[in-house]
Amino acid sequence: MGNDLYDVVIIGGGPAGLTAGIYAQRAGLKTTLLEKEIAGGQVNEAPLIDNYPGIKGISGMELANKMKEHALSFSLNIENKEVQNISIEESVKVLQTNEGVLRSKAVIIATGAKPRRLKIKGEEEFSGRGVSYCATCDGPFFKEKVIASIGGGDRALKEGVYLSKIVSKLYLIHRRDKFRGEKINEDKLRERENVELVLNTVPEEIAGEQKVKAIKIKNVKTNEKSELKVDGVFIFVGVISRNEFIEAEKDDQGFLLTDAELQTSVKGVYAAGDCRSKVLRQVATAVGEGAAALYNAEQYIEKNF
Ligand code: NAP
Repeated sequence: MGNDLYDVVIIGGGPAGLTAGIYAQRAGLKTTLLEKEIAGGQVNEAPLIDNYPGIKGISGMELANKMKEHALSFSLNIENKEVQNISIEESVKVLQTNEGVLRSKAVIIATGAKPRRLKIKGEEEFSGRGVSYCATCDGPFFKEKVIASIGGGDRALKEGVYLSKIVSKLYLIHRRDKFRGEKINEDKLRERENVELVLNTVPEEIAGEQKVKAIKIKNVKTNEKSELKVDGVFIFVGVISRNEFIEAEKDDQGFLLTDAELQTSVKGVYAAGDCRSKVLRQVATAVGEGAAALYNAEQYIEKNF
């Protein structure tokens, strides 16, 4: 494709990016979607999605595949390329990738987010040897074992429900006594006999030899320190952005700030889904934003090119 000018380049092949791709194809725009890893993004890691209207009880991977097939049925071009930098030349967006340069009238960033690290001793050392950020990927390795999971958001609760069906015992460690995640999953966890809620508690160190053997924790109310013998530690303490390649306004966590039209501080560059600064990161919100971003990008192209 060389120096051909695209109407829209979409960065990221999760629900937001694929939806933008479907809308772009249907609008007849010259489009390509760039994806660094496998298409689908983080949703691939969700064991069960129960809150996407119309499709109850589907695995993240299955839903991501359906979305990708849908986009491909409209002949969306999907390329395995990583964007390294975006610059602007007379309104044209110039995307430097690991495999050449692309030029486009508009860009939609839908790069999602990745798991935040706890940054405690042992976390990095035992990553992949008992420390995990993905229940679907690694849960089955802990059949009938004892594990700890950290966090009290949507992910911690949802993945906790999934993990509790596999393991013999789950310590759910949360730094407060109130959960941030969906109540329905909190209720499910409270009902499970093999789940012990360890509240007002922070993890301080993951210990082991070849593999994880224990987690050292501290009660923040009493300052009492203790140790739990575990075979694995799942960490669900939020997500961080993946937008290093663009110089646009971001919030203090690095997520892209957008206006009401989902435009970033760079004209003609839009953001949709988890990479955007917002409160609720769900497939349902990502999909809506992908559609809106594409629509607004189309309006921008009409006015400016
Ligand atoms: P989140 O909602 O930001 O929750 C992060 C959790 O980790 C919070 O409970 C937080 O505690 C805790 N935490 C953060 N830093 C910590 C630290 N250093 N030490 C101990 N605990 C720490 O993140 P998330 O659960 O990953 O969800 C991210 C987004 O994805 C949300 O928008 C969520 O709705 C969405 N999501 C939804 C689903 C779903 O099933 N519906 C699944 C996955 C993700 P505090 O509560 O004290 O702040």
